Amino acid sequence: MKVIIGTATLELVEGDITRQTVDAIVNAANTTLLGGGGVDGAIHRAGGPAILEECRKVGGRPTGEAVITTGGNLPAKQVIHTVGPVWRDGSHREPELLQSAYKNSLIQAERHRCSSIAFPSISTGAYRFPLDKASRIALSTIIDHLKGTTPITAVRFVLFDSAARATYEKTLHHLSAEDKDIKNV
Ligand code: ADP
Repeated sequence: MKVIIGTATLELVEGDITRQTVDAIVNAANTTLLGGGGVDGAIHRAGGPAILEECRKVGGRPTGEAVITTGGNLPAKQVIHTVGPVWRDGSHREPELLQSAYKNSLIQAERHRCSSIAFPSISTGAYRFPLDKASRIALSTIIDHLKGTTPITAVRFVLFDSAARATYEKTLHHLSAEDKDIKNV
């Protein structure tokens, strides 16, 4: 599924984020930035040691923030590492922190002149954020951002399985039905 917002495209695909040829891919990291399981492990395995070396220099980052490193051996030029919240019960600022993770990733992309960016579904794996809620926060944060002035021209969500893709598609259908600034293509 693909839509247009302002001068940018927003696309949902099923696949592996480590294989995306874009200016930057986003990593769902943890606060240490020293690697982990899930998408984080996959990015470090595919990208090689140069990424971890830069992450070590940064140290760590609190939940909701984002930093950028080289893409190492990945087809993507750079990796934006952001830390999504661990879901507890929804009353520990989880929605707000997930929104910050997306927003700060977009800000990093802009600062480093990335015009194409690919996101995984942050926090919905080991961090257990409910997929439906997470998809609404992820997509509406990005859509709001693309309505402003931005050098970003392409955002791709790379969903790892068909359930995640179906959920994100359903959410994007709902959001586009009630928003005339989202154009279906
Ligand atoms: P978190 O700790 O933020 O929950 P995870 O890596 O555990 O991060 O999961 C986040 C999402 O990334 C999950 O939906 C998981 O299925 C997905 N995922 C795992 N590996 C990949 C990959 N190679 N490409 C894209 N998405 C992936």
